[in-house]
Amino acid sequence: MSVLFANRYQCCICRNPKRSVIVHHIEEWAESRLHDAENLAVLCLPHHDEAHSKKTLSKNLDAKALRDAKAKWEARVKQFDAESILSAMRLEYSNWNFMNELRIFELARVIGIELKRIFQFDQLVKSGIAERSGLPAVRDNSLFYMYQGSDILARYFYVSEVLSLVIKNLPIINISDYLDKGVLSFALAPGDFIFVQGAHTFSPTTQKKNGKGRGQICRGVRKANNVEVRFTFDRWEATSSSAKSEWLTGTKNQGSLIHVKDLSRDEGRLVVTGTVLGICSNFGDLKRRDYAKGLGRAIQLGRVEEYEDDDDWDKDQ
Ligand SMILES: [Zn+2]
Repeated sequence: MSVLFANRYQCCICRNPKRSVIVHHIEEWAESRLHDAENLAVLCLPHHDEAHSKKTLSKNLDAKALRDAKAKWEARVKQFDAESILSAMRLEYSNWNFMNELRIFELARVIGIELKRIFQFDQLVKSGIAERSGLPAVRDNSLFYMYQGSDILARYFYVSEVLSLVIKNLPIINISDYLDKGVLSFALAPGDFIFVQGAHTFSPTTQKKNGKGRGQICRGVRKANNVEVRFTFDRWEATSSSAKSEWLTGTKNQGSLIHVKDLSRDEGRLVVTGTVLGICSNFGDLKRRDYAKGLGRAIQLGRVEEYEDDDDWDKDQ
């Protein structure tokens, strides 16, 4: 994840979204030769000046002060993204049209989420919705879609609750506003979790004769400005009949939560391939993160990755 994304394009000292920013080397590059994100901090121009001033004031922005401020701000930013995705989801209940149960419960295990502490867990087990291990019970392969049936609501709430807990615990980057090759090609890395909203195109890659059971594999693509986000999923795992036949069919405005596996270039496009954890509707307010303006400015100033701050920069005395 690029340091700019991780910091919302905001100075980690003043966090002022209106100020233009620069990427600063915490340990001077000439000495450390450290180029990795660990040695970089996002600073506004005044704080950048301050970090470069050699005064030995107690308030001086030395490497330690910068690292502390950066760590605190980055932790807050991660929380913002998780919160914005979750609060948008509360707008309407039946939001997830698809949930990748296998991957969600795998992540829940890795993160250490205690499924047994979920509201009414014992009841869920008793009524056959969840197994004692916490995994959702296996569904009959003769169904048209996995969430078919009258008693399915409890499963939906259970799985979506686990997904919410997973989201709260992952550093998710909302890239909806940054579908731009120039920005994303250096901002993303395999292993990142991203959320992308907008026109998704869903098309089946395999046709099942009777339209029943697992293996109704479908490709999902979100494409804009020479960036293509791609994933495949089993449409059988749709959470409702309309999810399967309407929301996950053709081109629809959806949001998808993706674990990035690979970044590649294809005829001048940046192709982001990943595993989809969930696909949802109605993320109306989520698209614009409030640092969008800051990014616009950063790009106007030049290609962001070329912001090597050199010590001669804007010294006016
Ligand atoms: Zn600042």
